[in-house]
Amino acid sequence: MVDWRLFDPLIEYARKRSMWIVAFCTGCGGIEMPPLATARYDFERFGMMPNPAPRMADLFLITGYVTPKTLKRIIITYEMQPDPKYVLAHGSCPLNGGVYWDAYNAIKHLDKYIPVDVAIAGCMPRPEAVMDGIQKMMELIETGKADGWKRYRENYEYYKKNQDELFGEGWRERTARMWIPWLMKGNNRGEE
Ligand code: SF4
Repeated sequence: MVDWRLFDPLIEYARKRSMWIVAFCTGCGGIEMPPLATARYDFERFGMMPNPAPRMADLFLITGYVTPKTLKRIIITYEMQPDPKYVLAHGSCPLNGGVYWDAYNAIKHLDKYIPVDVAIAGCMPRPEAVMDGIQKMMELIETGKADGWKRYRENYEYYKKNQDELFGEGWRERTARMWIPWLMKGNNRGEE
C-alpha cells in the first residue's frame, strides 16, 4: 500500500514552479506585467506564464483598483479556476481602496469577496515588490499555507453574503442572462 502523502513535497514543489497566471489585469498595475514577463525580471524562469483560459490557470493577479462591474468578472473567473488556486493582489487599491478610498465605484476590501493569499502594498508597487510577492507566494505554496481556495470553500456563505449584498441576490443568473444573448448575437454593446 503506497502512502501518497509521501509525494506531497514533490507535488507542492512542482506547483510552486509551474504557476500559470490568469491573463486578466485590472487598474494601473497591469502595466507592470510587461517588465515582469520580459528580459529584465523574466518570471518565466520560475515556470510562470500568462494563460488566457482560467480553467488552466493557478494564479490570479489582481493588479489594481476593482470596480463592482469588474468584480463580477473577477468572481466568475476565480470560480472557473480549478483548485488549488492562488490570489495575489498588487497595490493599495484592492486592499483598502487606496486613492479611491472614498469613491462610490471602487471596492475597498477585495478579501470580502474572494480570498487573497498575498497582498503587496504600495501605489504602484515596483516590479521588484511584485517579484517579492511572487517569491512569498511560492514559499506559501511549498509549505501548504496558500490556502485561500480552501477558505473560499469552507466560508462560501460569508463570501456569497458579501457578494449578494453588493450586487443583489441572483446576480449570477441575471449576469448570465445578459451575457448569453450578447455572446449569441456578437453584440459588443452588452452591458451589466
Ligand atoms: S494602488 Fe495606485 S497604481 Fe495601483 S491601481 Fe491603485 S492607484 Fe493605480
